[in-house]
Amino acid sequence: MAAHEVNRMPKEPHFMDPSTIFGQTLHNGQPAHLFISPHQYVQGHGVLDRLGEYLAISLSGSVGVLITPGRKKNLGERISKSLTSAGFRVSETVFQGESTVEEVRRAAEFFRTCETPIQAVIGVGGGKCLDAARMAALQLGISTVCIPTTASTDAPTAAHSVLYDEHGVFQSVEFSPVSPLLVLADVDVLAAAPERYLVAGMGDAFSTYFEARCCMENPQGRTARGARPTRAALAIARQCNDVLLECGAAALEELRSKQIGPALHQIIEANILLSGLGFESGGLAGAHAVAQGLTVINELHEKFLHGELVAIGIMAQLILEQRMDEADTAIRFMKSVGLPLHLGQLGFDPHQRDAELDLIVKHALDVFFIRNEPFEVTKENLKAALLKAYDFGRRYRPV
Ligand SMILES: [Zn+2]
Repeated sequence: MAAHEVNRMPKEPHFMDPSTIFGQTLHNGQPAHLFISPHQYVQGHGVLDRLGEYLAISLSGSVGVLITPGRKKNLGERISKSLTSAGFRVSETVFQGESTVEEVRRAAEFFRTCETPIQAVIGVGGGKCLDAARMAALQLGISTVCIPTTASTDAPTAAHSVLYDEHGVFQSVEFSPVSPLLVLADVDVLAAAPERYLVAGMGDAFSTYFEARCCMENPQGRTARGARPTRAALAIARQCNDVLLECGAAALEELRSKQIGPALHQIIEANILLSGLGFESGGLAGAHAVAQGLTVINELHEKFLHGELVAIGIMAQLILEQRMDEADTAIRFMKSVGLPLHLGQLGFDPHQRDAELDLIVKHALDVFFIRNEPFEVTKENLKAALLKAYDFGRRYRPV
């Protein structure tokens, strides 16, 4: 789309869209199988205070920090202290709130003009701040470090970022040639975030296996990089699903009683690492296409978190695929952790809002990964699945 083209980040010629490379077919008529991951993922209590030590294994000199205002207040000093004690010089700038072309350029320019050239950009905050940090690093041709402060999505481990306009409207996806050098998941920091974020993260993570399975089963299925998925990614996605079913409700109890235990540890790993590896190298399908389609309705886009919309997408996908046993298991799980079961819980009755439902369907069908479903998804069958998922969710009574 023209508007999207205008807002893409200008790139050096060697920064190509990876799907033009990995999407190419080989002698057997299929693209290569591709598995990518961050270089290091570190999770634990208080790992934030060891950031400098972890980075000093591979880097030295200067590093840049892009941090949200709230996190600067309560974590900024700890981060600087850890980095300077490990011998790093630190240049810090505060994230301006939206992952736009202008913000990425501003941050990149700030880091470019630092006294000594910086070796990595460290993003500290929510998804948009990490996206901007990754794109600033891409502009500078250096590494990224992601320090998520909520476990609400699986984006921190990925090598791509989303660009928005100044109103927060999606513009484009930007691929980095390399994955993050380090993803640091400090369990104490993540457990201090509001409960809703952890629950939304479970919604995002719970779709991973169902979507990766589509991509694997459909010979035409492709990951976002145009490649075929790997068995490794599918196994990780399966493990992600198992952990959620086993530990989701217990993790919430631990969070509420402020007793961080094994369940919360495992859910943080599932939400960030297992889901991140599973979706990036396993591929997406109907659930995320529906979630993206739902953002066309302003009230849904503004009021609900990504993982909450993905939960709606999961039910639509399983019903579209006529996997009713799994739909039963899924709805039981979603109820147990407080994810939305149907669109009515988001204040949207699809039976009453036909024209908007058509719009949601149209946008979902425009998303390329809907074609990873192992059969043709049409306007008719997707709309019917969304209506049926709504009725199914409304009728659900826990036994
Ligand atoms: Zn997602």
